[in-house]
Amino acid sequence: MTHSNDTTTPGQNWSHARFETRAIHAGQDADPTTGAVITPIYQTSTYKQEAIGVFKGYEYSRTDNPTRTALQEALASLEGGAWALTYASGLAATQNLAYLLKPGDHVLLSNDTYGGTYRLFAKVLSTYGIELSLTDLTDLDAVRGALRPATKMVWVETPTNPYLRIVDIAGIANVVDGTAARLVVDNTFASPYIQTPLDHGADFVLHSTTKYLGGHSDVVGGAVIGNDQESFESLKFHQNAAGAVPGPFDAWLTLRGIKTLGVRMRQHSANAEAVAAFLQAHPKVGTVFYPGLAEHPGHEIAARQMCGFSGMVSFLTNGTYEDAARIVERTRVFTLAESLGGVESLIEHPGRMTHASVAGTAAEVEDTLVRLSVGIEHIDDLLADLEQAIG
Ligand code: PLP
Repeated sequence: MTHSNDTTTPGQNWSHARFETRAIHAGQDADPTTGAVITPIYQTSTYKQEAIGVFKGYEYSRTDNPTRTALQEALASLEGGAWALTYASGLAATQNLAYLLKPGDHVLLSNDTYGGTYRLFAKVLSTYGIELSLTDLTDLDAVRGALRPATKMVWVETPTNPYLRIVDIAGIANVVDGTAARLVVDNTFASPYIQTPLDHGADFVLHSTTKYLGGHSDVVGGAVIGNDQESFESLKFHQNAAGAVPGPFDAWLTLRGIKTLGVRMRQHSANAEAVAAFLQAHPKVGTVFYPGLAEHPGHEIAARQMCGFSGMVSFLTNGTYEDAARIVERTRVFTLAESLGGVESLIEHPGRMTHASVAGTAAEVEDTLVRLSVGIEHIDDLLADLEQAIG
């Protein structure tokens, strides 16, 4: 990152190192003042100026903070982008990207999307003149047909939330290429260990860092990563003007989580694969949604664009809403809670919880759907818990 009046020495270049090494070192050189191996929490709102306008790269912490800079450099490195910006939440990151739009612009969103993203576009940004339509983004012909001259953004989640559909990022990038639209990929469900959308032609990657990147369910945050410098200047300007920044401690917690992302994602994926196989064989379970299953319609694309299949699994019970509710209220190792991506396993009912805001729309989810965020506990305990809950 560059700062106005930047007098700090550039950090070591880790661009040729492997993922796990970059997760621990990129942007995280020893503190130049004290030699502290771990990036300090720069818990300060402001910075001394030597004379008016002469400062050591930092002026005020809404604009920049060294702990946040370290996090941003690590994220840019992991996603293979030129820059990263971080935010107070994933939705603050979404809102910041929406500042690239103006009244009359159109956004194409997946019909299977995190409910909060849908709510922000449909209920808030629409009142500022941003138009929205929902399409099945797994169908490239449908995407071609849904693009309009006014389409300025195509918003992809893959795997999608909560049905874990797989969108062909390179395929959509081809369709969008040459139009006025920019391709955003919400990479929250995969994390950069599993998938790096910029390599497949996306213009921007978005994260709720609250999830796998933070990894311990102890911090809320968001990020946008990209390559285009003009967009960076615009997003940075709007963020500084509007103010949805993460505090230094939140940035530090996220950075600490990132250091173990590789080992965590390998275990999340291994446990989720075993859980999906167990559910598939269970007589009281209907369809199981997991891109690692050979029967999953997006399996081939997932195997091509992902490295592992991540830790999210959804399934339909063979019964009624009451059966689904009973299962999510009966587990003991899986905690009934919203959110995902932490080391502990979570279970939820999307229709009544994370996706309640899409009820009655084209994005409504089935009442018998259960969503699991498979953690990294011992797999035997996870399977035993599901067995006793499903019955
Ligand atoms: N994107 C996805 C896929 C999510 O699941 C979420 C939250 O659950 C968000 C974005 C929003 O992130 P946050 O809750 O950090 O604002």
